[in-house]
Amino acid sequence: MSPPAPKPRSTAAPAAVRRWRIGSVLLWLVLACLLPGMLGFGALFARQYAEGRAQLEQDMLTTARAMVLTVDSQLNIARASALAMAASEHLANGDLRAFHAHARGVLAATGAGMNVVISDLQGQQLLNTLRAPGEALPPHGNPQAVRQVAATGQPVISNVYTGGVLGKPVLGVDVPVWRQGQVQQVLTLGLLPSAFDGILTAQRFPAEQLAAIFDAAGTITARTVSPEQFVGQKGTAEYIARILATPEGAMNTVTREGVPTLSVWSRSTVTGWSVGIGVTQATLERDLMRKLAAIALPMLGLLALGLLLAWVAAGRIAGSLQALRQQALALREQATWPEHRMHLLESAEVSDVLRQTARELATREAELNEAHRLAGFGVWRYLPGSDAFVASTSLRELLGRDVTTYAELRGTVLDESVWSDLKATNLEALRCGDPYEVEVPARRADGQILWLQLKGEPVRDALGRQVEVRGSVLNITPRREAELTLEQTRQVHVRQLEAAVATRTASLTAANEALQRLSHTDVLTQLNNRLATNERLRQEFLRMKRHGQVYAVLFIDIDRFKRINDTYGHETGDEVLRLLATVLLGAARATDFVARYGGEEFLVLLPDTQADGARTLGEKIRHAVASQAFPVVGELTVSVGVSVARGDDKNEEEAVHRADMALYQAKSEGRNRVCCH
Ligand code: GH3
Ligand code: MG
Ligand code: MG
Repeated sequence: MSPPAPKPRSTAAPAAVRRWRIGSVLLWLVLACLLPGMLGFGALFARQYAEGRAQLEQDMLTTARAMVLTVDSQLNIARASALAMAASEHLANGDLRAFHAHARGVLAATGAGMNVVISDLQGQQLLNTLRAPGEALPPHGNPQAVRQVAATGQPVISNVYTGGVLGKPVLGVDVPVWRQGQVQQVLTLGLLPSAFDGILTAQRFPAEQLAAIFDAAGTITARTVSPEQFVGQKGTAEYIARILATPEGAMNTVTREGVPTLSVWSRSTVTGWSVGIGVTQATLERDLMRKLAAIALPMLGLLALGLLLAWVAAGRIAGSLQALRQQALALREQATWPEHRMHLLESAEVSDVLRQTARELATREAELNEAHRLAGFGVWRYLPGSDAFVASTSLRELLGRDVTTYAELRGTVLDESVWSDLKATNLEALRCGDPYEVEVPARRADGQILWLQLKGEPVRDALGRQVEVRGSVLNITPRREAELTLEQTRQVHVRQLEAAVATRTASLTAANEALQRLSHTDVLTQLNNRLATNERLRQEFLRMKRHGQVYAVLFIDIDRFKRINDTYGHETGDEVLRLLATVLLGAARATDFVARYGGEEFLVLLPDTQADGARTLGEKIRHAVASQAFPVVGELTVSVGVSVARGDDKNEEEAVHRADMALYQAKSEGRNRVCCH
C-alpha cells in the first residue's frame, strides 16, 4: 500500500528527447563496431573478386595469344606446303595425272592437308586428290578465293566453307600456279577444321572452359565443346563485332548454347583468325565464392566470436541496468526488494545505494506511519474518474478496514447522507479548484463512532485538468468529546446560573417590593407615608386630567395633641397615633387611600368622590374618633378639612392646599368639626 504521493517535482524530460532502450543502444554500438570491419571485408572481397577476375582474364588472354600464334603458324605451314606443291614441275608440264600422284604422296608424307585441288581460273576443279584422276569434278567450293588468287597472284587463306566434293565444312589455302609468268591455275590445299583440334586439345582446357578458333570471318573452325554441332557456323554477332573491332579483349557474353560466360579473345593481325576462350559465369562465381569462403569463413568465425562476446557483455550491461530499474521501481512502490547479481561495478554501487535508501525509506515510512497512527492522522487520494480511494496505512488502521473505492465508504464508514454530502463537496472542489475542510462523523469497523476532520485539495494533471482530490484525515474524536462535555457542563452551568439569577431576581424583587413598601409606609402607624401620598395624589390628578374623574382630599388633625404629649408623654402620644390610624382605616372605604401625612396629621384620598361624599366621610371619621376610647388619654377629637380636586387645578397640590385651608378653618371655628373648601 502506498500512501498518496507527495506533489511530484517535475521529473518529466522534454517531450522532444527520444529515448532508447539500452538493448537497442548496445545493438547499435556492436553494429557500429562491426561496420568498419564488414565494410573492409566487403571491399576486400570486391577487390579479390576484381583481381581474381582480372587475373583469370589475363591468363586466358595469354593462352589465347599463344594459340593464335599456333594457328598462324599452322596456316603458314599449310601455305608454304601449298606454294611448294604449286611449283611442281608436273603442273608446269600440265601433267595433272602425275601431279595427282605426287600430291597424294606429299599429303601422305607430311599430313600438311586433307587434299589438294587444282582449279582453273573460273573455279572449275580440274583435279582433286580425293577423286581419281580424270573423274568429273564439281566447281570449286570457294570460287571467290580462286578469283582473288587469279586476280592478285597472292596466296589466300580461305575462311571455312562447304567443300565442293565433301559437302562439309572445309577450308583451304589457295595459291597460284604460275606458268610462263602468268597465273594459269589455282592450287588449293584443303584442310579440315579438325586440323586445328590439336591446338585446342594441347591446352587441356578444363570442362568448365570453352575455347574456340575462328576464321577471319568469325566462323567457328574448332571448338572444345560440341564441335560437331557448331563448327562451320558463325560465332555470335556480338562476338564477331567485338573481334573485328579490337584485336584482343574480354567481355561478358552468351555462348551459342545460351550460357553466360566471361570471354576473352585474341585476333591475329596477320591471318585475321582469332581464338576465343570463355569461362562460364557460374564457374567464375563458384570459384570466386570458394575464394570468398576461404577468406570469409574464418572472418565470419571471428565475427561470430566477437558478436558472442559483445552479446555477453551487452547482456550483462543491459541486465544490470534492468535490475537497477526493477530495484528503483521497487523503491518507488516500496515493494519487496528484488536481489540481483550485478556484473558491473558501477551498477553494484548504485544498487547498494538504492538498497540503503530503501531501508532508510522503510524505516522512515514505519516511523511516519507510527507518528500518523499516534496522531490519529492519515492521508488519502480520491479519483472520481475511477472512484478509486487510496488510503494511507494509518488511515486504514484508524477506520479498522481496508478501503479501495469511494463507494465502499457508503453506509459503512460514512452514513448515507454524510457520504453523499462529502462526495458533492469533493466534486465541487474539483470544479472550483478550491480546497475544503469539513468535520464528519464516521464509524469504525468495530462500531465505534469517530469524528474526523477532512481536508481536501484538488490536484491537476499534466494537462491542467483537475483529476483527483488529495487530502488528510485527523481523528478529532477526543476534541469533539471534550467539546461535548464542555458544552454539557456549560449548559448545566447556564441553567444553574439562570436559576440563581431567577432566585436572586425574585429576592431582589421582593426586597425592592419591601423597600418600596417601607419607603411608602409610615413606621409608626403602618399607614401610607408622605412619599406614597404624594405619588398617589399625582396618579389621581393625572387620571382626573385624562378621564375627568374627580377625587376628594381629607386633611385630619388631632385637636390639642401637644397637650397629650405634654401630659402623658410621647409614648402615649405614639399609642394614640397608632390607634387613630386603625380608627381611620375602619372608617374609610376599601378603595380609599389612608396615609399619615406628617406628625399628627392624616390624609385620606377618596377616588371618584364628590364634595358631599367627602364631607360625609369626614363626618364619619370625626364621629368614629370621638366615640373611640383611647387608653390613658380617654377621649379626643379631630378636625377635618375637605376639598375636591378641580379640572382646572394646575397640579395635585392645589387640592391638598385647599383641604389644608379648610382644616385651618375648622380649627379656627372651634375644632372637632368638618370644613369644606
Ligand atoms: P391644635 O388643636 O391647634 O392642633 O393643637 P395642638 O396641640 O395639636 O397643636 P399642634 O398641632 O401645633 O401640636 C402638635 C403636637 O404634636 C406637637 C408635637 O409634640 C406633637 N407631635 C407631633 N408628632 C408627634 C409624634 O409622632 N408623637 C407624639 N407623641 N407627639 C407628636
Ligand atoms: Mg397639627
Ligand atoms: Mg393638632
